[in-house]
Amino acid sequence: MMICYLGLGANLGDKRKNLRQAVEMISRVDGVNLLKVSHFYETEPWGVTNQPNFINAAVKIKTNLQPLPLLDALQDIEYKLGRVRNEHWGARTIDIDILSIDGLTMNSERLKLPHPYMFERDFVLIPFSEVSGKAYPLHGDSVIKTDGCLVDFDLKMIACVDKNFGLGLNGELLFHIDEDLRRFRELTLNNTIIMGRKTFESIGRPLDNRRNIVLSKSLTNIDGVEVANDLDTLYELLKKQRSDAIFVIGGGEVYRQLIPYTSEIYLTVVDDTRKADTFLIDFNDYGGFACDFADQREGFTFKHYIRKV
Ligand code: ADP
Ligand code: MG
Repeated sequence: MMICYLGLGANLGDKRKNLRQAVEMISRVDGVNLLKVSHFYETEPWGVTNQPNFINAAVKIKTNLQPLPLLDALQDIEYKLGRVRNEHWGARTIDIDILSIDGLTMNSERLKLPHPYMFERDFVLIPFSEVSGKAYPLHGDSVIKTDGCLVDFDLKMIACVDKNFGLGLNGELLFHIDEDLRRFRELTLNNTIIMGRKTFESIGRPLDNRRNIVLSKSLTNIDGVEVANDLDTLYELLKKQRSDAIFVIGGGEVYRQLIPYTSEIYLTVVDDTRKADTFLIDFNDYGGFACDFADQREGFTFKHYIRKV
């Protein structure tokens, strides 16, 4: 597995939507785990200047693909999103460049690593710093943080797991601990909760006094619940009506999908191991969460993690 950084840019059509779609498609490539997504930045065009402003972003991924197959997969996404290759540095619906792969250096026609211009361009360096934690000297170009990305919402995850990060078995949670359920209620009340279809079905109804959003490819309308069929729709729903806090409440697949946009994790770890068929993703893989609070109770521990900057 290698750590790799990608730079994205768009300056045609619905630019933010193109970027969101590209990021979602990157996360679905076989052999790619999306770890972290930067904010979106608006920048003036570089090189060919009589064209619309760009929106730029960067992502951090972990991949077992070799560099050229990875480039193939990214170019396939550019193609699917309607990129027509014509002018170098010209207008485009989406551009996805490989900025760097671990410490790899390459200098072939098809692939140069690290990307030859990345250190010259603030619109690459600023989002790159955000996802990599690495800082390089900037050049004072105009690069403005704008909305448009799910990271704007600072998602919080909340979960109760056993010592192996087990979440559930046969569609049921592993644990129903009164004190934990009370804490869940206190934290989520009057806020927004996001869940997957299976989690919604296991609860069987919308949770009271909370805005309920179900993330599901297949569901349509349900009373008392808003449905998002993809992350782009989720973004639009969250933007339309903002709330103080947005909690991702499960299950395993929704945690995995939303971890790149998550800034805090409320975890209850039960001092036990149970048989389980769904697990919480190992969020330590996803780059820099630090435990800033742990409260040991009778048989379990309340923990809080925050994303390191
Ligand atoms: P640019 O990104 O420079 O504006 P293109 O996206 O049209 O232009 O890329 C032109 C070519 O650059 C691609 O066909 C690709 O094979 C090559 N290339 C070389 N190094 C890289 C890299 N690190 N990431 C992406 N493409 C690269
Ligand atoms: Mg390119």
